[in-house]
Amino acid sequence: MLAEIIAIGDELTSGQRLDTNSQWLSRELGLLGIPVRYHTTTCDTLEAGVHAFQIAARRAQVVVATGGLGPTADDLTRDVLAELSGKQLVLSEQALEVITSRFLVRHAVMPESNRRQALFPDGSCPIENPDGTAPGIAVSLPASDGWGDGHGCVVYVLPGVPAEMRRMWNETVSIELKKGKGSKKVLRHRRLKCFGAGESAIEEMLPGLIERGHDPTVGITAHEATITLRISAWADDQDSCMKKIFATENMIREKLGQLVYGEEDDEVEDAAGAALIAASASLATIEAGTAGRVAALFAQAADRRQIGTEPFFRGGLVLPELSLEKPNLIDAAKGVAKSHNASVGMAIGPVRPIGTRQAVDVIVVKDDSVIATEHILGGGGIAMSRAAKSAIDQVRQTLL
Ligand code: AMP
Ligand code: MG
Repeated sequence: MLAEIIAIGDELTSGQRLDTNSQWLSRELGLLGIPVRYHTTTCDTLEAGVHAFQIAARRAQVVVATGGLGPTADDLTRDVLAELSGKQLVLSEQALEVITSRFLVRHAVMPESNRRQALFPDGSCPIENPDGTAPGIAVSLPASDGWGDGHGCVVYVLPGVPAEMRRMWNETVSIELKKGKGSKKVLRHRRLKCFGAGESAIEEMLPGLIERGHDPTVGITAHEATITLRISAWADDQDSCMKKIFATENMIREKLGQLVYGEEDDEVEDAAGAALIAASASLATIEAGTAGRVAALFAQAADRRQIGTEPFFRGGLVLPELSLEKPNLIDAAKGVAKSHNASVGMAIGPVRPIGTRQAVDVIVVKDDSVIATEHILGGGGIAMSRAAKSAIDQVRQTLL
């Protein structure tokens, strides 16, 4: 069984609002074991809506759509569904009563336009909306007409308002899908976080793993030099999924070694903080030309970690760009550690050009040792953020 999602609204196609409903629904369908193959976003016209629904309902057995169920003239989803199923819109007296009573309890007069929300394509089912006036609509499209790739298709339309949509999903649609209509498989994910090598270098270190058709699938994405490996497994139950995932995770960890610093939502500063705590060490930093990013990230990580323990981050000095030259970095790192009573000191110099690229110098002093590294940074406007993360990762590597 395959699913598709359609998000409807001019505010989405014009870029004024982000479509978060499709993201949420995709995760939910995944948890039910129903893979989602396409997301479509359409504007509020009848033509675009009919077109999008026809394509989706031809190739998927479940279509979940949000938006366009309001009372106003630009809310056309019920007309789209009537056209799609070839049925007339008919008034549901029962739905009209529910809508009318919502206005009655508020001592308000129901605008005439709200009557539209009691119209449903003949033969469809209203989906109760406990939080708003717009009921959802469920339409079954028969296999005999070729819908759902010959298996039939059920179309669920929910209001666009995220809170209403989620409640109706939880209380009605997901329950119906669970009742045997969904496939018996479940989908689980796990993310491994890496730092210190580029996307393509990491892919090369994992031959065959990221190819399509690998089970479990392994996807790779990069964000500001942090690489995320996302392992996804389908299986009969959660345990079988996790077994497959952990086997692949072990293989990845073996191949990538210390490039893997954490999992799920871990940031590189969380891993560095954990390494400091494990070594009963504490850190102070001094930085020039990174706009205080190193100190800010460590302070945030410390904030997330601290449970009444001695802080692993003792503080940082933030200097203007040209106030720290390479020859002074070692003294600066030693000095800041001493003045902040920390066992580890770190200094980072300004980001400087080398040829067409940029680089940054990082010094970590710990006990009597001095570790000096030069980090080559990519372009693309993330040099400063990458410099800060490289410095933080240097602290982690020093402590391992
Ligand atoms: P509608 O049901 O089309 O009247 O949408 C009601 C409101 O829900 C809109 O004004 C949006 O603010 C919000 N909304 C609609 N679709 C989405 C979506 N796909 N993701 C997030 N918010 C949405
Ligand atoms: Mg709308």
